[in-house]
Amino acid sequence: TAFPEVRTVVLTGAASPRGIGRASAHFLAEQGWNIGIIDLDADAARAVAAEIAEQHGVQAAGAGANVADEAQVRAAYDELEAALPQIVALVNLAGVSSPVPYLEVTADEWKRVMDINMNGVHYATRRAVESMVEHGVGRVVSLSSVSAQRGGGTFSKTVYSAAKAGVIGFTRSVARELGHQGITVNAISPGPIDTDIMGGTLTEERKTAMAADGVLPRIGTPRDIAAAIAYLISEDAGFVTGQTLNVDGGLYMH
Ligand code: NAD
Repeated sequence: TAFPEVRTVVLTGAASPRGIGRASAHFLAEQGWNIGIIDLDADAARAVAAEIAEQHGVQAAGAGANVADEAQVRAAYDELEAALPQIVALVNLAGVSSPVPYLEVTADEWKRVMDINMNGVHYATRRAVESMVEHGVGRVVSLSSVSAQRGGGTFSKTVYSAAKAGVIGFTRSVARELGHQGITVNAISPGPIDTDIMGGTLTEERKTAMAADGVLPRIGTPRDIAAAIAYLISEDAGFVTGQTLNVDGGLYMH
């Protein structure tokens, strides 16, 4: 099936001012993608959509949803689907960090992080691919983390690593099931990226220490990840599926 000229990408978790999602939404709008944003912060989602429409001259809309709540995710997606051109791509970015040591993880913390970082990816993906199979074309990209592959070691610890590793298994399996329907499903595994997810702990000293651990002498920028997303949702990436693209300055090689 043809990859439509006029097309939309929906990004979850794209409302935080210095986040990977907002930077990616701008980057993709520059390439002509229309933009749908789902975020916990509904006002911020709509504000980012308005700023994108104004700056890049594409269509954009925002909707509020907690990705851990399937009914909310489906309602937000329905709203965006009704308002925007054909949704060809979904990018799952909504996520939270969890620097809690394993022996201090409560049942509530375990559930909170799994609900958002793992179940949230499933809820949004499930809704998106239901429509993508009807069109016979789709791209799904989900944000994993180097923490999943190296066993934490940057900021977040075990619950986060487990959820992000779950995203990789989920990606491979959905990719296998839906490939014959024209849908590719991939993950991106970033190293430390300069955003606010680490809750103000990312000092210049900390950045230098994290960079020293990798091959390239710096930590990553949201744009580094945006460019990887742009590739994986492009028409030209149509032969790439079930993969995890490490964008981490060489922190993890395998
Ligand atoms: P961020 O905190 O800037 O952005 C996260 C976004 O998700 C925010 O807009 C927030 O409002 C939204 N969000 C949080 N909980 C939500 C929920 N329950 N429902 C809906 N939206 C919710 O973080 P970021 O650094 O841009 O991270 C984006 C993604 O990349 C996350 O999945 C994160 O785990 C992953 N990642 C980040 C890094 C890093 O170093 N920054 C490294 C590896 C992976």
